[in-house]
Amino acid sequence: LTQLFRPLDMLGMVYRNIRQGLIDMAAMFKLLDTPQEVADAPAAPALVIRRPSVTFDNVVFGYDPDRTILHGLSLDIPAGHKVAIVGPSGAGKSTIARLLFRFYDPQAGRILIDGQDIREVTQTSLRSAIGIVPQDSVLFNDTIGYNIAYGRDGTSDEQVESAARGAALMGLIERLPQRFATEVGERGLKLSGGEKQRVAIARTLVKNPPILLLDEATSALDTRTEQDILATLHALAEHRTTISIAHRLSTIADADTIFVLELGRLAEQGTHAELLRRDGLYAEMWARQANEQAELGVAAE
Ligand code: ADP
Ligand code: MG
Repeated sequence: LTQLFRPLDMLGMVYRNIRQGLIDMAAMFKLLDTPQEVADAPAAPALVIRRPSVTFDNVVFGYDPDRTILHGLSLDIPAGHKVAIVGPSGAGKSTIARLLFRFYDPQAGRILIDGQDIREVTQTSLRSAIGIVPQDSVLFNDTIGYNIAYGRDGTSDEQVESAARGAALMGLIERLPQRFATEVGERGLKLSGGEKQRVAIARTLVKNPPILLLDEATSALDTRTEQDILATLHALAEHRTTISIAHRLSTIADADTIFVLELGRLAEQGTHAELLRRDGLYAEMWARQANEQAELGVAAE
């Protein structure tokens, strides 16, 4: 009997890893035939977005019943705003992303997009409205072109190439003998963490969603590539609601609002200037990172 359950266990493991990586659910079900943890409400309508606002209203959530991660979190993100979520590792930042994508439902409180409770709309419509560039991108064992366009029938070669250019991938692709037809992943070319992240960014450029969620989207990149891609992400963020989860504070200093999360609670919120004046957790994190930068600078000389 254990023999029989082992493969199931492994599937569960792959499933959890992929979910942790926040890949599109639709694509995941193509890979694995697993049951979903959250279900569509009977006769749920599609999400209709006129103005893509995002609201967390007193959200309580824990992965396990005996350990609460978010303690009544409220966030109000007006349509078109660019906000950032920062805070120490383990504060619950990625959990917010997973809840917005409805990988889990909160134990209390509500999450609304343009006034609609995300539990009451179809998951397909919800997920097609949100573009996620996750912390750890997962690629399919297929061509690089497929990985950029994937799942979206009718994506033209021009769209794929323009997305690749926007994500600073063309240099790499031009060097490949089969360009966009080159196989990547276990069967083919191994991409670095930063390259995989750029594929995820290109994928999001093709998807063109009203809500953009960047979970430490440039964390695996070197500073130079990060600068290139930040310019792209800035352009991408125009006319969209953008939530950036950031480790490096210098990348989000121009956000309309910065939410500072600590142990699943909102410790502070405001603009960069307001938070520096407040001289609290954000100011402390900012000073620490400035110090680290200075030390790196000295070390490099
Ligand atoms: P952050 O992104 O701010 O670093 P996360 O949202 O990933 O933090 O995690 C918040 C807390 O939730 C951490 O203590 C983490 O260990 C826990 N956690 C994250 N994912 C899971 C999971 N799948 N099961 C149980 N606990 C989890
Ligand atoms: Mg995280």
